[in-house]
Amino acid sequence: HVMKVNESYFGSYSSFGIHREMLSDKARMDAYGKAILKNPSLLNGAVVMDVGCGTGILSLFAAQAGASRVIAVEASAKMAAVASQVANDNGLLRSKSQSEGNGLRKGVIEVVQGMVEVVDKNVELQPHSVDVLISEWMGYCLLYESMLSSVLYARDRWLRPRGAILPDTATIFVAGFGKGGTSLPFWENVCGFDMSCVGKELVEDAAKIPIVDVLDSQDLVTSSVILQTFDMATMKPDQVDFTATATLEPKPNATENNIEQFNSRTCCWCYGVVLWFETGFTSRFCREAPAVLSTSPYKPKTHWSQTILTFKEPIAMGSEKANGGKLAAIGTEVYPAAKIDLRISIVRSTEHRSIDISLEVFGI
Ligand code: SAH
Repeated sequence: HVMKVNESYFGSYSSFGIHREMLSDKARMDAYGKAILKNPSLLNGAVVMDVGCGTGILSLFAAQAGASRVIAVEASAKMAAVASQVANDNGLLRSKSQSEGNGLRKGVIEVVQGMVEVVDKNVELQPHSVDVLISEWMGYCLLYESMLSSVLYARDRWLRPRGAILPDTATIFVAGFGKGGTSLPFWENVCGFDMSCVGKELVEDAAKIPIVDVLDSQDLVTSSVILQTFDMATMKPDQVDFTATATLEPKPNATENNIEQFNSRTCCWCYGVVLWFETGFTSRFCREAPAVLSTSPYKPKTHWSQTILTFKEPIAMGSEKANGGKLAAIGTEVYPAAKIDLRISIVRSTEHRSIDISLEVFGI
């Protein structure tokens, strides 16, 4: 049995578990809810397109905010049927007679099934006639599943000149983590026994593949730096893939879990980096109430967690008296890094909607 990649991808979205997870993600719902519901000058009377409507939640918000027409596009047949049913059950589905122009204005949502790249024939809509394009397209590490290119396609085909796109910015951040961000501390002491051989093996494995997991902000041992920003209103579709550099500096006050002994001195090692993203609903379009959706380890956790990239070898960080003088310089044997220069690239892989991440330390 051969299943086409896209079929299995949209198949995964028709299981309700993932939709429940998204609808329960408070940071996500708060940011989209605020952006759509609290900016009446943007949404009231607007023609809105929701790219990848899923259950239709963002379209329901748009209808609630007074949109005059909401085109909810969804590739998965099952989810498109769900979105229609939900809109109808809430009195927000546009009826057939209405769309033919002879009905009273009641519902404003119309659900269009199909990939947004190929829905032309299923919708009566002039190109460049949408006022507001909304979508929740972000994947792990922002770009996993690469739905951004579909949103940019929809922007270029349907959005009117100077129309709004929500969210309109996306930023990827990077920071280094210490031992506490690895599985080493757990395995070093299991009921008083040393099982650190397991921890070491796990850290070696982690260097081969990115891990999606939550990281405690306490385990960050460097500054947090912007790796890349995207402006969804102006970026070109071929700017989704990128290579960028960042310089991380040691953060003072390393916490207990990240302090280690090295040649009988106390020091702090950086085991790898963590990536996360924020999307902005900025005042460019959301004039009354701008909003931010953050997946930072310093903020309440979201279903995106963070993305953890482990180095092949940890790098000694910080020669200064961090942690109230507790963290001393490490010996002359190893030159402690006062900074770490990184180059990270994220490119869409041609298959499976996945991404290839490469990480290179090119200077310390
Ligand atoms: N907007 C919903 C669902 C977000 S999940 C919410 O915020 O809860 C993304 C949805 O987009 C999935 O349902 C997926 O099937 C759909 N999707 C992904 N790529 C698409 C495309 N190119 N065209 C139409 N729908 C797409």
